[in-house]
Amino acid sequence: MKINLKQLSKDELALFIVKLGEKPYRVGQIISWIYKMYAVSFDEMTNLSKELREKLKDKSVISNLTIINKIMDSAGTVKFLFGLHDGESVESVLIPNIHGKGKYTLCISSQVGCALKCAFCRTGRLGLKRNLRAYEIIDQVISLERYLKENSKSDNTMHDITNIVLMGMGEPLNNFREVNEALWKLITVMRYSKRRITLSTAGIVPKIAELGLKGPGVNLAVSLNATTDKSRSSIMPVNKTYPLKKLLDACHTYPLQHGRMITFEYVLIDGLNDSDEDAIRLISLLKGISAKVNLIPCNNSDNESLKRPEEKRVSKFHDILSEAGIPVMVRKSMGSDISAACGQLKASHNRLLKSSSRKQFK
Ligand code: SAH
Repeated sequence: MKINLKQLSKDELALFIVKLGEKPYRVGQIISWIYKMYAVSFDEMTNLSKELREKLKDKSVISNLTIINKIMDSAGTVKFLFGLHDGESVESVLIPNIHGKGKYTLCISSQVGCALKCAFCRTGRLGLKRNLRAYEIIDQVISLERYLKENSKSDNTMHDITNIVLMGMGEPLNNFREVNEALWKLITVMRYSKRRITLSTAGIVPKIAELGLKGPGVNLAVSLNATTDKSRSSIMPVNKTYPLKKLLDACHTYPLQHGRMITFEYVLIDGLNDSDEDAIRLISLLKGISAKVNLIPCNNSDNESLKRPEEKRVSKFHDILSEAGIPVMVRKSMGSDISAACGQLKASHNRLLKSSSRKQFK
């Protein structure tokens, strides 16, 4: 069996290269080809001798994702569906930054599907298929860096990724080991700043503490989405295991570097969590936490009963928080016209597959 070099840590890769009978300085060259120049074949590694390239090909491979589908919305958000080696697929989204042409935030997935079954989220409907390996998380970043590099060449503008958010498919803290390995690699090998990486969780309380202890100090976002246990449990079953008090206690003790804040995501759903009383409760729940709030008017979720509130309601909710001194913004639902919320592209891809297989059977 050939070894996937992306599965190896820096030290393991060094050992592998030395065992091939090569000088240690080759390790840096190969790391640079894979993680800085995003090479997907040994033939691209032009400063390695032909002989070494053949040796590498003989013993190893460089994993890569295939783009199954790609759609762009009117604002330039591009959503990718990536195929994995076992036929599964995951989504990643490139979102252009509002300030700064050619700069993007990359939203990546941590699992194929998700076990949490949040009522508003399409990924939940798929159920959990499997965890992603650390290299599959990294490969989403590498594939899109490669994609942007091609774009930079073709339009002579620099395109690059400034922020990475783990807000795609899956619950990152339910795949802690692989996610943590990927985070460390992003920071120590690929040199992304930890301040520009955000992990979003639905609130797996013990793992929030573990992330604080073992993680590389990335930003934390918490999908709060409600202000009472009753309403939160009705849309997020995970709240029955880790109710609000436990979740907020974990946020209180999460080690934050000076000046950093926890982001609380709040999907606004008409009549369910968007009242003035909810806004007021939210203010008191967040007391004592260095917090900011991202309001996300609910995207169409297949669930007829969960609707986006009117704009007036969203503004009122926003203003109540803002007047209380809480940093708050309304997250523009990027790519809602290309179903860019969590799990939506994959869900429609699955529907497509189902309807085409149905056709074949007829
Ligand atoms: N499991 C993690 C990360 C995936 S969800 C978490 O729960 O945080 C990523 C974000 O997408 C969350 O903030 C979630 O609230 C949001 N989201 C999911 N479905 C949505 C929908 N229908 N409309 C708007 N936002 C949605």
